[in-house]
Amino acid sequence: MIEIRGLQKRYVMGDNVVHALRGVSLDIHPGEFVAIMGPSGSGKSTLMHILGLLDVPDEGSYKLLGMEVSRLDEAELASLRSKVVGFIFQQFNLLPRTSAAENVALPQIYGDNEPDLEKARGLLAAVGLGARSGHRPNELSGGQQQRVAIARALINDPKIIFADEPTGNLDSTSQNEIMHILKDLNERGITVILVTHEAEVAAYARRIIRVRDGVIQEDTGAPAPTGSSGQPALAAPRVPPQRSQFLPGGLLRSARTYVREAMRALTANKLRTALSMLGILIGVSAVIAMLALGSGAKASIEQQLSSLGTNLLTLTTGSPQSGHVSMGAGTSSKLTLEDALEIPHAVENVKAISPTVNGRAQIVFQDKNWNTRVVGVGSSYAAMRAAVPAIGRFFTSDEDVSRARVAVIGLTIVRNLFDGKNPIGEMIRVNKISFQVIGVLPEKGASPWMDQDDLIVIPVTTAMRRLLGKNFLDSVDIEVNETLNMPAVSDGIVGLMLKRHRLPVDMTDAFTVRNLADIQEALSATSRIMSLLLAIIASISLVVGGIGIMNIMLVSVTERVREIGLRKAVGARPRDIMMQFLIEATVISVAGGAVGIALGSGASAIMSSFAGWATSVSVESVVLAAVFSAIIGIVFGLWPARKAANLHPIEALRHD
Ligand code: ADP
Repeated sequence: MIEIRGLQKRYVMGDNVVHALRGVSLDIHPGEFVAIMGPSGSGKSTLMHILGLLDVPDEGSYKLLGMEVSRLDEAELASLRSKVVGFIFQQFNLLPRTSAAENVALPQIYGDNEPDLEKARGLLAAVGLGARSGHRPNELSGGQQQRVAIARALINDPKIIFADEPTGNLDSTSQNEIMHILKDLNERGITVILVTHEAEVAAYARRIIRVRDGVIQEDTGAPAPTGSSGQPALAAPRVPPQRSQFLPGGLLRSARTYVREAMRALTANKLRTALSMLGILIGVSAVIAMLALGSGAKASIEQQLSSLGTNLLTLTTGSPQSGHVSMGAGTSSKLTLEDALEIPHAVENVKAISPTVNGRAQIVFQDKNWNTRVVGVGSSYAAMRAAVPAIGRFFTSDEDVSRARVAVIGLTIVRNLFDGKNPIGEMIRVNKISFQVIGVLPEKGASPWMDQDDLIVIPVTTAMRRLLGKNFLDSVDIEVNETLNMPAVSDGIVGLMLKRHRLPVDMTDAFTVRNLADIQEALSATSRIMSLLLAIIASISLVVGGIGIMNIMLVSVTERVREIGLRKAVGARPRDIMMQFLIEATVISVAGGAVGIALGSGASAIMSSFAGWATSVSVESVVLAAVFSAIIGIVFGLWPARKAANLHPIEALRHD
């Protein structure tokens, strides 16, 4: 069964080379019960680890079941371990917070079989723990825990059981129980190899190998194999492993197992799992809320732009770059009412104009006060800016010329001064001057930075001469008959203004004519910058969340080194460990992302109901957030998972 020749193992520690094994040759036949004894540091554990496929020798050959195994890689050793050997350790190494039956079934995860709790319970009954299969390790005595460990070693029907000081932590009664079970197993045909330094324990064995300083000092010899013809084995040995058995089991089954193991680990420490989700959760919810706000704002801008009317030009003084141009005395470039009124006569293809002055005023109605924006405009404003009153009427050109004290008010003012009641015909005082309300403007909605319905519109002459005391216009709106004519009209207006203000013809930047397309262009440039900033903030917050997860996963790997060692000992390949930790990280980040999506959607709904502007959570942003959080989990889980997967089984098992 076991055939080793000239086995050597060295440990290099700095300049020191420790020869743990210096050429060990040994044969062990099926059905033997062997105790390896020797003083501390003699190399008995090293020998057992190599025999148990947990480590490979530096030199020499090791044939197990006729197959050379001394040069196999870790994954191949792991597959072979899960099929041929079972381990029992001094420290039991049971998974905490996991029932005895589940502990027993653990090695099956890494074998070819579906985890079988029935079989686990059967084995627990066979070691006298039938009634305890639902108990957790902390509810069992030391002897009982070791019996669970024995049942676990048997679950994959091993041919050899390796026991490393199995009774080292037990009282003498438990020691006898455990040794009887091992003896019984051996009598049923399983080869048992035991490391101990207690003669009492070694006495159960039929062959004792004494090791000293890395060589075999004494071997009581191999008696003829027995047991193979006796009673049927508790766990019948199977055929030697074939190459095909190195292939992984069903992909779907292993994925399901990985997820279940990850969920078990995560639910075992709920608070920590919740805390590690927090970073991703906040990041994702911020992204979702900001994207919703952004798209809501964009939609409202578009809606406002479309409500402005078409074929509109706006004339202002000064270039957009230089701001207001200050001229020498006598050559004022300020716009006058006469400038505006001249435009339709002097420039072709102009359909209508509306001069504009802006200001602020305090409005009083009965005992209510409201500070708002005052816009003085021409009578064409209503048609040009899609502002024909919803209730009442707009003022006429006669009223404009006669500086009538009439006002058309926005809905916000109706709400605040009139409690939503019909204001038509009421008298209000605007900066202490009486005005009659003649109409209510159609609702234009609010954007994040401006309430479009918080204004009062009055005739421009009234605004200039009676209310605001302004002699000049702030701007002039011009409606062009055809979109096609807009550039020509624009040039014509600038030319006219230069002429009227006696400015040289090349001073074209004294006046600016903008059209809606320019405004749209400027707005979309702004929104592109906003999106970029958003994306940067989002990625920073997601990276921070990812680092949080990585941190927790690293702590978790460090904390579970022994568990990882155990999983490897019972047959987990590096890939299995890697997948388990990667899936844990991904589950954390995806769950965090999912909660974040819910939270972000809720937050944007609340914001829109409070702030009064529409937000919309798009399917794209939800999908993006979900995909991103999964990617974050994988990327930031990779390092901890690799760290776990690369742990050496023996070093991991010895970790304390
Ligand atoms: P035993 O089990 O008989 O106490 P071991 O096989 O554990 O002995 O160790 C044999 C020798 O190899 C000891 O001198 C020990 O210090 C050394 N050794 C064992 N494992 C390592 C290791 N991982 N690194 C360095 N030296 C080691």
